[in-house]
Amino acid sequence: MRDLTRLPKAHLHLHFTGSLRVATLAELAERHRTRLPQVLLDADPLVLPADERGWFRFQRLYDAARACVRGEDDMRRVVAEAAADDAAEGSGRLEIQVDPTSYAPFVGGLTPALEIVLDEARRAAAATGVEIGVVVAASRMRHPLDARVLARLAARHAGDGPGEVVGFGLSNDERRGDTAEFAQAFAIARRAGLASVPHGGELLGPAHVESVLDHLHPDRLGHGVRSGEDPRVLARVVEEGVALEVCPASNVSLGVYPTARDVPLRTLVDAGATVALGADDPLLFRSRLVDQYRVAREMHGFTDAELADLARASIRASRASAATRARLLAGVDAWLADDAAGDDESRSTSGTIAAAGRGASRSAATG
Ligand SMILES: [Zn+2]
Repeated sequence: MRDLTRLPKAHLHLHFTGSLRVATLAELAERHRTRLPQVLLDADPLVLPADERGWFRFQRLYDAARACVRGEDDMRRVVAEAAADDAAEGSGRLEIQVDPTSYAPFVGGLTPALEIVLDEARRAAAATGVEIGVVVAASRMRHPLDARVLARLAARHAGDGPGEVVGFGLSNDERRGDTAEFAQAFAIARRAGLASVPHGGELLGPAHVESVLDHLHPDRLGHGVRSGEDPRVLARVVEEGVALEVCPASNVSLGVYPTARDVPLRTLVDAGATVALGADDPLLFRSRLVDQYRVAREMHGFTDAELADLARASIRASRASAATRARLLAGVDAWLADDAAGDDESRSTSGTIAAAGRGASRSAATG
């Protein structure tokens, strides 16, 4: 069986604090004398119900982790380790999402907070060979004017070189805030040439996907999996060329689907959607980028040729430079052409399946 860590791919859905290694989080918490909820340090992935209480708990845990990232050194370490971990998983292009708001107080404002991330992204790219673009993400929980401030900041740093801002996102609980009110922020970002990459179609269904399409004109949707519930909406997603950043482990942890097998990966791909697999918040979901490809292989029966197509889709949906794109796509061809590596067709049971099974039973228990 071909090694999925050697399959060149692009990673388009990864949050800044959510990318933290557990060991790093523990170290930062000790240094800053912060007590962490034990569940953040446990080996098991988080499993929560997909209601507002579940999200509230997720957000509290995320905030607790974020409170350990204080100042420039910590921020640089997050980026450097995210790049190193991505490199180890065959990612040649990382688009990491950050809302600089929470780090701003430690470094003297929004601009330095973003510039630290961008500067370290350049350094980490040179050190690891992973080309890194940054997505500035606003939060649905804050005022739409805050989103506009972030969009202007993102626009000032827009570019397609290493360590520049390539996209503008909108995250947090999809059920909160009025999507239409964020349209102006996204218009500012689009005018600057930034990709529009809001979350949508995760906690809400096809009707909200349409609202996001209408108001925010996404190039990619964070998740978007629930557009699979309405063939007409999914057809529109495909027709408008909107890529879906699908994160199976995240969907299971946040209760969107009971198991990774229930994520409608086949439905989306069969409909012609561009699907780019992502890890979202490996810190909380205990599942990194390659694990998502393992889910496709082991739970959804994707052949190596189909897995290569997923990797190509991620590369094409990225904002990678033409040279990087060509290099990564050639690498995918080479991975697939390596017949010797594909000889062994045996299907082994991996930790992913074990973890997902555990998640399923826990979610049934808590559900
Ligand atoms: Zn996300």
